[in-house]
Amino acid sequence: MHKIEHIYINGTFVTPHGHEQFDLFNPTTGQIIGQVRLADAEDTRSAIAAAKRAFPAFSRTTKQERIAMLHRLHDAVLARVDQIADATIEEYGAPLSRATWGARYAADSFMSAAKTLEDYSFTRRIATTSVVMEPLGVVGLITPWNANAGFICNKLAMAIAAGCTAVIKPSEMSAIQTQVVTECLHAAGLPPGVFNIVTGRGDVVGADLSSHPDVAKISFTGSTAVGKTIMRAGAETMKRITLELGGKSPTLILDDADLRTAIPLAISAGFANSGQACIAGTRILVPEAHLPEVLELTKAAVAAVKVGHPRDPGTTIGPMVSAKQYERVQNYIRIGMQEATLLIGGEGHPDGLDGYFIKPTVFFNVTNDMKIAREEIFGPVLCILSYRTEDEAIAIANDTVYGLQAYVLSSDVKRARAVASRLEAGRVLINNAQHDPLAPFGGFKQSGIGREQGIFGLEAYLEPKAILGVDAA
Ligand code: NAD
Repeated sequence: MHKIEHIYINGTFVTPHGHEQFDLFNPTTGQIIGQVRLADAEDTRSAIAAAKRAFPAFSRTTKQERIAMLHRLHDAVLARVDQIADATIEEYGAPLSRATWGARYAADSFMSAAKTLEDYSFTRRIATTSVVMEPLGVVGLITPWNANAGFICNKLAMAIAAGCTAVIKPSEMSAIQTQVVTECLHAAGLPPGVFNIVTGRGDVVGADLSSHPDVAKISFTGSTAVGKTIMRAGAETMKRITLELGGKSPTLILDDADLRTAIPLAISAGFANSGQACIAGTRILVPEAHLPEVLELTKAAVAAVKVGHPRDPGTTIGPMVSAKQYERVQNYIRIGMQEATLLIGGEGHPDGLDGYFIKPTVFFNVTNDMKIAREEIFGPVLCILSYRTEDEAIAIANDTVYGLQAYVLSSDVKRARAVASRLEAGRVLINNAQHDPLAPFGGFKQSGIGREQGIFGLEAYLEPKAILGVDAA
């Protein structure tokens, strides 16, 4: 049994003032595997005070000093990627390949931030004015459970690159990952208070961070509903915000696509991270004339997907993170059975799997006004929608409150780019489902505000100061 009793404030592991015990589950079995003692509002305030004390000196560090810190953080996390992956499998149920990728991503995000910082100039000249980019101050970083270690590291990496100090509020459901990551970050030997890690409830620690006058900015990844709450809470003190929220991403399969490669790609983009991914391509748009072939190939592609124990290297879909998430996805499958036609999958557990496992499910005869086409399900449940013309496909793709990511699959890249230019999405992936750690990441519309990663991500932690006058040169 894991017993997590400490949070991290001012460079030290401390016992929280809060005393609520929160159960941790293994989603593969549904069994309790430990407990974490949660921080409360008093702990949050201590962490904010430590970050505030650390800010004046840290904000004056040089670019080279911060690049060196980012390298140390990278090395410290890299040294324990196996344990981070292991914790991700145990408490989240991520399949081995995904957990391994996620742990490497956590380490690599420090190198991506270092590279961004190396190439960045904090001063520029605009007409006769000198513009200096200055760190914002103390930032609050709030992460979800679906990639907790990665989000802690990529948000912290950019905060440090910018010269901000941080209070991190990880998902309370990911405390084992947080424990390992915190030990790694501590080993990098940064000055006390530069980062503080306070695991607690969202409506306690998260809410306090989002309204505290000494916090200049919140960077949040999570649901659109909580993102709106944070935005409201931050308004009073005019916090800068970066919100990375939900999605209902379209995969447009154009009529010239080779379906034998396009369908497996669309299925893997839809089932990414066991379907618990904000970027999952959950609405697959196909030409009506090709529907019979699409259905046949989809059935074969989904039947080949292995749902199973996350430690089995052949597994591509693990369990849902929690009983609540399992029930939520089951409910959407029941809604889908009413609204549309089931192609494969359906209600209940896959044979022989009792944890929070879902049958990979695909519906067709879906129209874009249906609940399963409009709402983020966050599980391995996909919709096939058919279209007659390219214009109609683009209209369906854009007819959503979300706009995080879109996929265009075509044998003609020029045509795919033309379609991409008409899509309302922060990222459009043509014939691939890869990640680019230096390209901006974030959403249009209710998928969020602002961007993470690369220059756009760095500038989200900076405030421009214009210095005018004869001495400004
Ligand atoms: P969530 O919004 O419930 O929780 C996310 C974090 O916010 C947790 O740490 C939680 O404790 C905290 N929180 C909850 N209430 C809060 C409040 N009132 N004030 C401040 N913080 C609060 O999301 P989740 O269920 O953990 O994650 C799933 C959601 O995250 C999905 O909607 C998914 O699309 C989204 N997501 C988005 C991205 C992206 O980059 N756009 C990436 C991953 C996940």
